[in-house]
Amino acid sequence: MATQRDLYTVLGVARDASDAEIKRAFRKLAQQTHPDVNAESGADLRFKEINEAYQVLSDPQRRQQYDTFGTAGLGGDAGGFGGGAGFGNFSDIFDAFFGGAQDSARRGHPAAGVDLRYDLRITLEEAVRGVEKEIEFQSLGRCETCSGSGAKPGSQPVACDQCGGRGEIRTTRRTMLGQMVNVSACPKCNGEGKLITEPCETCRGDGRTERKRSLRVTIPAGIDEGHQIRLSSEGEVGPRGGAPGSLYVAVHVAAHPSLRREGTELAFDADVSIVQAALGTRITVPTIEGEEDIDIKAGTQPGTEIRLRGRGVPHIRRASSRGDLHVFVNVVVPAKLSKRQRELLAEYAAETGEAVSPAGQGGIFDKVRDALG
Ligand code: ZN
Repeated sequence: MATQRDLYTVLGVARDASDAEIKRAFRKLAQQTHPDVNAESGADLRFKEINEAYQVLSDPQRRQQYDTFGTAGLGGDAGGFGGGAGFGNFSDIFDAFFGGAQDSARRGHPAAGVDLRYDLRITLEEAVRGVEKEIEFQSLGRCETCSGSGAKPGSQPVACDQCGGRGEIRTTRRTMLGQMVNVSACPKCNGEGKLITEPCETCRGDGRTERKRSLRVTIPAGIDEGHQIRLSSEGEVGPRGGAPGSLYVAVHVAAHPSLRREGTELAFDADVSIVQAALGTRITVPTIEGEEDIDIKAGTQPGTEIRLRGRGVPHIRRASSRGDLHVFVNVVVPAKLSKRQRELLAEYAAETGEAVSPAGQGGIFDKVRDALG
């Protein structure tokens, strides 16, 4: 067997690429290098290599073996293209050329319904605690008059005369790689294999009607901005009894007025004056559970971090483990001083022997302001 390139490199994907990313990369490369479209020398070998890499990485078990043991873990099967074992997943080759899984996988059946997306806004408190939300949306549901068949009650759909009820038209061609069977959906019945002669009057033969739906959605504690919750079968139903799609609830977490979030950690910037930092004080900080008093020790330096353990955001998969709330102390130097304040600070400076502008005179800007004021 020839030296194998790393299979992830062949497909140009990261080692932690998702199944969908791998599939996408494969489709794109297969379309570019298929010998039918690419006449460059070596394109056929490249196509073969891409296909072999995909055979392994698209199969969770073989992918894991490859990740653990490399090509050796595949039992010599990785080069199986020539031995008849390759091209095992022929439908994926169809997918790459003839337009998508739905098209090739469900021929002879009505198309599945589309996936829906619902954008849900929640507060940071809700994201931390988890919440149940009632959502309302418009969706296409099964027509009650015809139970989704699209046929007028009492009538029956008939087999399509163009495809003989199979829903697909097949044409065979010879290519460098052997026979390629081009399967396309029957144009007359849209691949469904059936024709409605007497359409249902409620849905006009579609098998679906628009309706308002409401659902309770459980948002788990720890959810973050951009996370999606998939509710399978809660999307639109397909026409004429087609399977329902999924509903994706895209969660948006509104910014909190004073707490910043990064993953499981929360942060708060607490302003204290130079005097409070030097002498110590007690301040109130906001937390998810409400306001809380914390001590600022005498001599606290700017940027000091005070950590409230377990007061952050729960880990989405391990709700028992929760991040921390980090309080960062920001020491505020006064930008404006009254005459008396300036005198007191000058006195302090005199005590410590620090050089400052002469008290009572201030800088040039103070003079201007005094003159105006
Ligand atoms: Zn109907």
